[in-house]
Amino acid sequence: MSNDPDGRRSIPISALEHYAYCPRQAALIHVERYFDASVETVRGDLAHAAVDRIGPDQRRDGTRVFRSLPVWSDELGLHGVCDVVQFDAAGPMPVEHKSGAYHRAGPADVQVAAQVLCLREMFGADVPVGVVYAGKDRRRHEVLVDTSLAGRVREMTWAIRALFDEHLVPDGVRDARCRRCSLRPGCMPDAPRRVEGLFAPRPEGSWDD
Ligand code: SF4
Repeated sequence: MSNDPDGRRSIPISALEHYAYCPRQAALIHVERYFDASVETVRGDLAHAAVDRIGPDQRRDGTRVFRSLPVWSDELGLHGVCDVVQFDAAGPMPVEHKSGAYHRAGPADVQVAAQVLCLREMFGADVPVGVVYAGKDRRRHEVLVDTSLAGRVREMTWAIRALFDEHLVPDGVRDARCRRCSLRPGCMPDAPRRVEGLFAPRPEGSWDD
């Protein structure tokens, strides 16, 4: 991870998506460097590879399309790579490709909102919306990046920075999300977090074996 001139850690935009899904997932991947592939992650990688392969082009309506475009925000301390950025007369608009279903206000919204905030800063443009393309329904879903969503990105970036700076791995969500999480084998969400007294010496004579 890179730092800006003030020594502040720059946060990868992918970490925001992971954090929005489960803060423990973000810490396992970005602090502990633990990753495990699943059918979903492989499917996602293939979807991204398909987008990456096509290369830059210009459409008949004059829209220019850039793929795998690096973006960053010095103000927020964020960096990442957009799957696709469309440029037309109104300015840039990121399109994030997902292989699965789209969930309104889910982690992909946070990810594409962070991309929008980077593009606003880089190009001085309005960039009111980003788009999530979902492979499951093969539809584009517009994400309006208003002050509320921008604030969510900002707060999450600071929360992740604190987590990374302190090398913390918080407790997991331990709910239905764990069933679809590729990190489940290493995370062991159902294992007890603490076993009180396991290593505390017992008074002499209290053993019964
Ligand atoms: S298994 Fe559950 S608690 Fe663990 S990282 Fe995944 S979603 Fe979070």
